[in-house]
Amino acid sequence: MKTDQFAVIGLGRFGSSLAKELMSLGHEVLGIDKDEEVIDNMNRKLTHAVVADATDVETLRSLGIRNFDCGVVAIGDDIQTSILTTIQLKELGVKKVVAKAITELHGRVLERIGVDRVIFPERDMGIRVAHQLVSPNLLDYIELSKDYTIVELSVPRCLHGISLQDLSPRSRFGCSIVAIHKKTGVVVVPTAEQVLEENDIMVIIGSNAQIELFEEELT
Ligand code: ADP
Repeated sequence: MKTDQFAVIGLGRFGSSLAKELMSLGHEVLGIDKDEEVIDNMNRKLTHAVVADATDVETLRSLGIRNFDCGVVAIGDDIQTSILTTIQLKELGVKKVVAKAITELHGRVLERIGVDRVIFPERDMGIRVAHQLVSPNLLDYIELSKDYTIVELSVPRCLHGISLQDLSPRSRFGCSIVAIHKKTGVVVVPTAEQVLEENDIMVIIGSNAQIELFEEELT
C-alpha cells in the first residue's frame, strides 16, 4: 500500500485516535496542536508533532502543509477556529481536506467552503450504536442511499450448517448475500452450495425493508 502523508490538526480525543490509527496503518502523520502538553504526549507516537496555531497561515506554510496528501481538521468545539483553519488549508492548496463538524450548521459551512469530506463523529456513532442495539446480529452497515444499505450480520445459530440455496435470501426476502467472511478468508459472490458456519459474517445488500425482513427471520 502507498504511504500517504496526513496532517492532523487538533489532537483532541478524535484527532489523536485518528492520527494514531493512520500511523498503525503505515502512513506518515504530522500532528499539530496549539497545546504544548498535548504535543508532548503525542510526540513519540507520530512521525512529527508540532506546537502551532493552525489559524496562522504562515506557520502552516512553513510546515509545508500544501505538500500533504490530506489535511484533517479535527478541531470541533471551537467552530470559528475550525472554519478558519479549513479555509487556510484550502487556500494553501492541500489536495484533500477533511473536517470534523459538531453541528449540522457547522457541517454545512464546511461544505460551502469546499471541504472534500465532513465527518460528524458523535452523530454518526450515535446512529451506528442505535442500529446495533436494536439488531443484535448487526456488526456494521453502509447506507448506499436513503432506501438501500449494505449490512454485515453475524450468522446466528439457527443458520449454522444451512446452505445459501436452502436459505434463498433473494427469493424469500429480496436481498442478496454478496460476501461471507469465513475463518479461511472472504468468499466474494458465494455460490448456492456455500454453507453458513459458526463465526461467519454475511455481507448483505438490499433495501432497508428487505434487510429488516431478513433480520426478523433470524431472531
Ligand atoms: P475532541 O472533542 O475530539 O477532544 P476538541 O475540539 O475538544 O476535540 O479538541 C481540539 C484540539 O484542537 C485541542 O487539543 C486543542 O488544543 C486543539 N486546537 C484548538 N484550536 C487550535 C488552533 N488554533 N491550532 C491548533 N490546535 C488547536
